[in-house]
Amino acid sequence: MSQEMDTYIKNYVNGELIEPASGNYLDNFEPATGKVYSHLPDSDEKDVEAAVQAAEKAFETWSMTSAADRSKILNKIADLIENNLDDLALAESIDNGKPVKLAKKVDIPRAVSNFRFFATAILHFASETHEMDNFALNFTLRQPIGIVGCISPWNLPLYLFTWKIAPALAAGNCVIAKPSEITPMTAYMLSEICMKAGLPNGVLNIVHGLGPKVGSAITKHEKIRAISFTGGTKTGREISSVAAPMFKKLSLELGGKNPNIIFADCNFDEMLKTTLNSSFSNQGEICLCGPRIFIEKPIYDAFVDKFVKMTKGLIVGDPMEERTKLGAIVSREHQKKILYYVSLAKEEGGEILCGGNISQLNGRCKDGWFVEPTVIQGLPYDCRTNQEEIFGPVVTIMPFEAEEEVIKYANSTEYGLSATVWTDNLQRAHRVARRLQCGIVWINSWLVRDLRTPFGGVKNSGVGREGGWEVLKFFTESKNVTIKL
Ligand code: NDP
Repeated sequence: MSQEMDTYIKNYVNGELIEPASGNYLDNFEPATGKVYSHLPDSDEKDVEAAVQAAEKAFETWSMTSAADRSKILNKIADLIENNLDDLALAESIDNGKPVKLAKKVDIPRAVSNFRFFATAILHFASETHEMDNFALNFTLRQPIGIVGCISPWNLPLYLFTWKIAPALAAGNCVIAKPSEITPMTAYMLSEICMKAGLPNGVLNIVHGLGPKVGSAITKHEKIRAISFTGGTKTGREISSVAAPMFKKLSLELGGKNPNIIFADCNFDEMLKTTLNSSFSNQGEICLCGPRIFIEKPIYDAFVDKFVKMTKGLIVGDPMEERTKLGAIVSREHQKKILYYVSLAKEEGGEILCGGNISQLNGRCKDGWFVEPTVIQGLPYDCRTNQEEIFGPVVTIMPFEAEEEVIKYANSTEYGLSATVWTDNLQRAHRVARRLQCGIVWINSWLVRDLRTPFGGVKNSGVGREGGWEVLKFFTESKNVTIKL
């Protein structure tokens, strides 16, 4: 199923791959070369309407299909993703710019796990009974909502797309999904997989195109009763302003500016290795990366020395090459945004310890969009560079003296997605974890993920939780039934 060059991606509606109603297509770029390599539908509300009609019809049957039968189909989709792991990883790397090695190790295996996890979770999803002595019995039905919208970003394309779609389908809903216009390829390949797996027509519909056109048509469609969105805080706010007055269920996973808090008593080598990953994995384009690094004073100089040396050793290169650690930035626009923040950091008095520039490659990647991994020191915790999301390979490092002080710094942003704490003092780990304003805390680790746990943020990082039972509750409506005895 490898994709031909200059593929024209199609929408997946009512079980078929179809052209957009307008007949118009958008260019899709390969970030590593800066060249157009395929095209995607420039869909609009007509395509969303066709998808809703298909989903409405499909819901009559899918909502009555047993959990066991839904589970079988979702497992089949997982198997087919796994069987095509190499092709999907290659496509993800071409489309997004990430190292193909990373896509093989993380992105595509996680898409498999998302389907497997929810294919089995739904078999164990139970609800409560509330008995009123000998008087009455209440039981809760958890029924699918109907048609739901899933909108996802470009940084972990298939990984985050399936993280929404799998639980929505498992719970018996029909889905209208929109991947990011910047990274549509693996969602297209998923539609081919769903057809092969025997997913009934109209149960999943994938409409490609621009956020303000397709995304907003999904958000405002009156028959789409829930929206699960992952993306930027600004877009999340726009979606809420339309969907909340329509009383839609909303799950919003938004931006972050996560703190990485390092106490002097930590396991230094382990911390260094992991901090390098939490700073620069996927070019720093992971919502869970830790771009604000706070280091306790006694180890500050040692940290700066080693961390900068290790950062300078990271290879920025062709995503296809095995040795590449940082691939291309997803778009020219995003590359510009990252470089803008580096210049802002300088204006704000920051000292660039390494990086800070475009990384100019040769050969086939000479026109690609690369940025050097960048480490900055000397900035106050409350300057713009330390408050706004950059979402690239740029970290700032700041010393601190006291626990109280670093908690204040960590909690100072509008965001509250995740945090990392490094310490061998068990009591301190518990104390600090409780006081951090965020949805996820990693102690002496980073990005260790158990799919049963609640996932999401507080403050402007979002509303609601994904993962485990939380997301199955989100994608179902509970109905209490009382029987008088
Ligand atoms: P965007 O908010 O720009 O886009 C996310 C999705 O929303 C895309 O599919 C986009 O389409 C679509 N969209 C854009 N405008 C609208 C609209 N008006 N109505 C409906 N949909 C719309 O985010 P990015 O793709 O730039 O992703 C990066 C952001 O995602 C970062 O802020 C990052 O922190 C966040 N993120 C959060 C995660 C979390 O779990 N909390 C995980 C991963 C990323 P199009 O591509 O066509 O613009």
